[in-house]
Amino acid sequence: ESTKIGWNLDNSYVRLPELFFSNLSLNPVRSPELVVLNNSLATTLDLNVEALKSEEGVAVLAGNQTPDSGMPLAQAYAGHQFGHFTILGDGRAMLIGEQVTRQDKRVDIQLKGSGRTPYSRGGDGRAALGPMLREYIISEAMHALGIPTTRSLAVVTTGETITRETELPGAIMTRVAASHLRVGTFQYAAKWGTEEELQALADYAIKRHFPDVEEDENQYLSLLKEVINRQAALIAQWQLVGFVHGVMNTDNMTISGETIDYGPCAFMDTYDPETVFSSIDRQGRYAYGNQPTIGGWNLVRFAESLLPLLDKDQDRAVQIAQDEISKYMDLYHSHWLEGMRAKLGIFNEEKEDQSLMEDLLSMMKKYRADYTNTFRALTFNEPEDFVLFGTSDFTKWKDRWQTRRDRQQASTADSHELMRNSNPAVIPRNHRVEEALDAAVEEGDYSVMEQFLDVLSTPYAHTPEQAEYTTPPAPSNIPYQTFC
Ligand code: AMP
Ligand code: MG
Ligand code: MG
Repeated sequence: ESTKIGWNLDNSYVRLPELFFSNLSLNPVRSPELVVLNNSLATTLDLNVEALKSEEGVAVLAGNQTPDSGMPLAQAYAGHQFGHFTILGDGRAMLIGEQVTRQDKRVDIQLKGSGRTPYSRGGDGRAALGPMLREYIISEAMHALGIPTTRSLAVVTTGETITRETELPGAIMTRVAASHLRVGTFQYAAKWGTEEELQALADYAIKRHFPDVEEDENQYLSLLKEVINRQAALIAQWQLVGFVHGVMNTDNMTISGETIDYGPCAFMDTYDPETVFSSIDRQGRYAYGNQPTIGGWNLVRFAESLLPLLDKDQDRAVQIAQDEISKYMDLYHSHWLEGMRAKLGIFNEEKEDQSLMEDLLSMMKKYRADYTNTFRALTFNEPEDFVLFGTSDFTKWKDRWQTRRDRQQASTADSHELMRNSNPAVIPRNHRVEEALDAAVEEGDYSVMEQFLDVLSTPYAHTPEQAEYTTPPAPSNIPYQTFC
């Protein structure tokens, strides 16, 4: 039967030292029901969509049964949560194995909300339906925007309720990731492992994500460089679309460079660098405008973990690590500039580009412009109904921008095309996400979510059907808040 579904799981994580995981037995749920399935993702993983919907298919997605090739485990890791070092681990997730496709692509298959593990501490190991659907929507939207991210294969309801402030329907989400290695996994190894164990983890990460550096003279330095570059690129992409991760703890930062952990994240409507959505982020540590800096802070924690491997002489290791870390902000900035040039239809580089961008952003802040729609309006030269577009500041800026575009070799048509492909029409706006979740969770009506997912799957299409999804929420005195 499992061959029919197409599971072809390997378990390379089990070949790491025991320190890094705990084998799990299953925590079956009462009556699993498949409520969302990602057909296109399933297909790219060589999984049969119809077979996944069968009783056996759903039993696997619910953690009631494991494919023959699977070996359920919880991963151990640590992390700085809001700056405080903590020992963590998968408290409510279970890695069932790594799906290896016919094209030799390897991805983790993880069930989130699958029950208690040795790392659960006080928690019940379970997840509520709303947050699992929320992760499904936003991670798939991120993927469609072209941003590296974990994916969502399915959500099943469990037929059980879980207790939070109220009783909520339980659910399990199947998360697909290049891997679940985190900065926090390295912190865990550095704190509790021997040097051999740390090295085994680093070798594993290199083999899995950066095989090209295996022959480098100092492959651990290369690992550090690669992770710094991927995170710099990733966070630049977040900034460019107005994504606020919300909980950039070091356990939520991947080695692969994928976005992970969609708890309290949300997209910004009105442009404001101080935007915070998470109810628990009272200091604004993870505010939109702080994300690049926090990324750097997290990468310093990664570099510290790697010190024993960077050089036998630890003073030299510190020097090597500092040299690399000191490049992060420039790297981030060049990724951001490149992306922002594209958003403004600019192909070549000029020194004044940065001030052109900063001046636009400061006007957007001053006049409380919608981030996404400002760039969309610039793309189609259709002034929105914003205060910004009626100001003389903006008119002057627009002339400057036009002159700048005229100075480049590229044609107006190419410039417009670049903007179309760099400025999304639709993002998962919070009020729309809530609307889709309400219909699904309260009414059992998944059609609103399905339609929303469909629109989100082609964010750069700029079709008439998308128009209604581009509207920002009605002004409100109550700021939008997210909860973990
Ligand atoms: P997060 O804020 O999602 O990154 O989670 C932080 C830590 O809390 C991770 O180690 C999770 O596995 C754990 N955790 C979150 N929710 C639960 C739960 N319901 N039961 C057990 N552990 C949990
Ligand atoms: Mg997490
Ligand atoms: Mg979480």
